[in-house]
Amino acid sequence: MTFSLELSPDLVHIRDWVHEFAADVIRPAASEWDEREETPWPIIQEASKAGIYSMEFFAEQSAEPSGLGMLVVFEEMFWGDAGIALSILGTGLAAASLASNGTPEQMGEWLPQMFGTVDDPKVAAFCSSEPGAGSDVGAIRTRARYDEATDEWVLNGTKTWATNGGIAEVHVVVASVYPELGSRGQASFIIPPNTPGFSQGQKFLKHGIRASHTAEVVLDDVRIPSRLIIGGKEKFEERVARAREGKSSKSHAAMTTFERTRPTVGAMAVGVARAAYEYALDYALQREQFGRKIAEFQAIAFKLADMKARIDAARLLVWRAGWMARNGRTFDNAEGSMAKLVASETAVYVTDEAIQILGGNGYTRDYPVERMHRDAKIFTIFEGTSEIQRLVMGRAITGLPIR
Ligand SMILES: Cc1cc2nc3c(=O)[nH]c(=O)nc-3n(C[C@H](O)[C@H](O)[C@H](O)COP(=O)(O)OP(=O)(O)OC[C@H]3O[C@@H](n4cnc5c(N)ncnc54)[C@H](O)[C@@H]3O)c2cc1C
Repeated sequence: MTFSLELSPDLVHIRDWVHEFAADVIRPAASEWDEREETPWPIIQEASKAGIYSMEFFAEQSAEPSGLGMLVVFEEMFWGDAGIALSILGTGLAAASLASNGTPEQMGEWLPQMFGTVDDPKVAAFCSSEPGAGSDVGAIRTRARYDEATDEWVLNGTKTWATNGGIAEVHVVVASVYPELGSRGQASFIIPPNTPGFSQGQKFLKHGIRASHTAEVVLDDVRIPSRLIIGGKEKFEERVARAREGKSSKSHAAMTTFERTRPTVGAMAVGVARAAYEYALDYALQREQFGRKIAEFQAIAFKLADMKARIDAARLLVWRAGWMARNGRTFDNAEGSMAKLVASETAVYVTDEAIQILGGNGYTRDYPVERMHRDAKIFTIFEGTSEIQRLVMGRAITGLPIR
């Protein structure tokens, strides 16, 4: 497809429709669920009823020809509220891991279960991080052992920081089968609902995105059928054999998921940044001091100019990464990481400036920029910290094994 920054009429329609949902349903509920610090199931159900939370909608937007479908949807939802939007869209990480590496049979069986039905919506979780393995994915200690006698995998370990961990219908768990191979000896496994030995550990109380559930999950002799290794056992063993021969392999279980989802995380951050910018702009055009609107002070107008420029620049990087991914371009300069890095740091910067523009009001919970500022910080941490994005980019640019 030729390059164009003009959204197709279909995508404009989707954007406006999702925006309406974000403005009418998500935004008014944001403060309540932030305070309650609970999963907003009624809002997830409304999203499901509206058709915004469904496997079909995810599939359609992922396949959108320009590559911008999912990015536009994520920006609007997070413009509404980050905590609620992550509760609704957090399933995306587990779904993406299955969609990028799963067999057609696995997708057919498990994707619908991840989303549930309109009457009974469900969520899914992707569990990679561990207490001793955050940025260092290769250090994962959760073990998956194949039991030939029963043709099952037996999993043991503790996962942490799992979005939707313990409340999900389906969990995707990254585990090490051959620890001596680091991340190349890892695979992802589908844990069906109510599997014995699988349980939720502590739920975390967080700084921001408080409506989104984050928890530990514990695997204690969890037994699952051998067919539940994502991509199939045969393919995994072939990949391991290539790794043992020292041949390079394109697919590392956790890394391929992250590469695919980083631009969408960038889009989330752009949504939060835009929300804070718009609020600060309106405020600056109303609030008067020294007999004039504060937007008339160059100090404030320049802040707004910088905020707007950085948001637009971040969005362009996010869209470029989405377009490249859709058109099969390789990320030679780590363009996915670049988009996520710039968008996440933009969200932190813009929400901080928004508080400054609102003055004392900005620092209170009576005004939404306080919440947006707390929410924005997560984007520089999850799905690879800013330092890790710079590391990935530094290696891609120089070709050197930067540490
Ligand atoms: C709210 C929330 C939701 C999350 N959701 C999920 C989820 O659904 N699934 C999941 O698997 N994980 C999830 N995570 C985990 C998240 O991806 C990790 O927190 C993140 O990867 C960082 O790992 P860490 O917290 O162990 O930090 P560490 O890796 O310990 O990093 C600490 C600091 O050291 C820096 N650092 C580490 N290594 C290097 C290096 N080589 N060079 C330079 N600096 C370095 C980091 O950038 C950081 O500043 C979530 C986290 C949070 C907070």
